[in-house]
Amino acid sequence: MKILKSGCGCAPLAVDRLRRRFWMRLLLPRHRAYRCRHCERGFLASKSIIEASLAAQREERFLDLQRLFITMASPP
Ligand SMILES: [Zn+2]
Repeated sequence: MKILKSGCGCAPLAVDRLRRRFWMRLLLPRHRAYRCRHCERGFLASKSIIEASLAAQREERFLDLQRLFITMASPP
């Protein structure tokens, strides 16, 4: 399992968290194990970076919906 700085690169980011062995948690306490739902690749990545990426995606989806509603509310 590789350590990837910000995930495997698939977009949009969709990951499942994997359980790690005790010694792995001791060795890399700030990293978590994830598996990508697109490419099935398992990797270790920083918890804060993955969570920030997921939050940014959620915000982007919210802004997309907001734009759609504004467009629907004011037809040309
Ligand atoms: Zn992937």
